[in-house]
Amino acid sequence: MANITIETLTKRFDDVVAVDDVNVDIEDGEFIVLVGPSGCGKTTTLRMIAGLETPSEGQIQFDGDLMNYRTPQNRDVAMVFQDYALYPHMTVRGNMKFGLEEEPDFTDEERKQRVEEVAELLDISELLDRRPEELSGGQQQRVALGRAIVRDPEVFLMDEPLSNLDAKLRAQMRTELQQLQEQLDVTTVYVTHDQTEAMTMSDRMVVMNDGVLQQVGEPLELYHEPTNMFVAQFIGEPSMNFLDGSYEDEAFVSEQLAYPFDDRITDGLSAVSDNDRLVLGIRPEDIELHDPDGEPQGETSHENHTAAMSVTVVEPMGNENVIHLTFPDSSSGTEDLIAIADGMRRIDADSDIHVHIPP
Ligand code: ADP
Ligand code: MG
Repeated sequence: MANITIETLTKRFDDVVAVDDVNVDIEDGEFIVLVGPSGCGKTTTLRMIAGLETPSEGQIQFDGDLMNYRTPQNRDVAMVFQDYALYPHMTVRGNMKFGLEEEPDFTDEERKQRVEEVAELLDISELLDRRPEELSGGQQQRVALGRAIVRDPEVFLMDEPLSNLDAKLRAQMRTELQQLQEQLDVTTVYVTHDQTEAMTMSDRMVVMNDGVLQQVGEPLELYHEPTNMFVAQFIGEPSMNFLDGSYEDEAFVSEQLAYPFDDRITDGLSAVSDNDRLVLGIRPEDIELHDPDGEPQGETSHENHTAAMSVTVVEPMGNENVIHLTFPDSSSGTEDLIAIADGMRRIDADSDIHVHIPP
C-alpha cells in the first residue's frame, strides 16, 4: 500500500495543456475517483501516475519516494483499462498469470496458486481454461481485474473499467468493485466521466475540468457544498437548476422571481452587495410542487417562497417523474426549472402548479 502525493502536476502536448497544476494527496488505502467531462485530463493524469506519460512539470511521490523517473514496471502499480487489453491467444489462466511474469520472487507453483486464489475471489474459477473470445463482456472485465489483483500491487489504477458493460451489469460491478477494494485495502485511483459512478464508489472524488482540479472531497461534501458552478452542475442528476438574477434588499431578484433570503443564506453572502449579479442554485429534489387549488402552503407569495409556474413536460422514470417547469410569460424558450416528483403522483403536462422552494 502507498499514499500518493501529487504536486503541481502539469502535462502539455504542444499547445494543449492537458493537466494544469494539479495538487492532491491520496491516502493509503483510499479509493479516489477522478471525475470530469471527456477531455478534462483524467486519463493523462492516470497515465502519469502509472509512468506511461512523462510530466511536463511537477512531482508524483509514493510514500515520499519520487516516481517521476521510474518506469511503470518499477512503480508497483497495476492498471485496468476500459478495453480490458486481454491477450486473445491466452487462456484466462494464462492472462492472469502473465501479470506475475515480472515477479521474480514467485515460483511457478506459487503463481498457479495465486491465480487460483484470485479467480476464486472474483468468482471466475470455472473460466480459467477459456479464451477471452469465449467470455462475456462482464467476464472479460473480471479477468482484467484479476490480472491486476494477482500482482498485489501498491496502487491500482483504473481507467473507465466499467464503461463497456451494459447498465445493469455496470451498477452491479460498481458495488462489487467497491467492496473488493475495501477488502484488498489497496490505494486505488479510478477514472470515470460518470458522476454517479464517482458518487457511489469513492471515498473521495477529484473533480476536474479543462485540466484544472476543481474540488476534492467526499461525495456528499461536494454535493452539498460545491466550490463553484462547475462542480454544482456536474454533480447530481438531473443537474442543479441555475436562475440568473441580482441581489437586492436581501433577496434574489429576477424578472420572474423575487426570493427573499433569511439569515441562514445571507450569513454566507457577506461579500455580496446590492445589484450584484447573483445565481440561485436549486437542486431538483429540493423543489416542492403543490396543487394550486389545494393546500394552503401552496399559496403564492414571495414571503412564502412559492411561485406559480406551468408544467411543460413530464418525464416518467418509474420511481420518480422529472417535471419541466416554466414561469408564466417565460421568454427562455426552454424550461426554467426542473423538479423531481414521486413516480406515483399524477402531474399533467400543460397544467398549472405552485412551486415552493424552501429556504
Ligand atoms: P480524459 O481522459 O479526461 O477524457 P485526456 O487526458 O485523454 O482526457 O485528454 C486531455 C486533453 O489532452 C485532451 O484535450 C486531449 O485531446 C489531449 N491529449 C491527450 N493525449 C494526447 C496526446 N498523446 N497528444 C496530444 N494531445 C493529447
Ligand atoms: Mg480518458
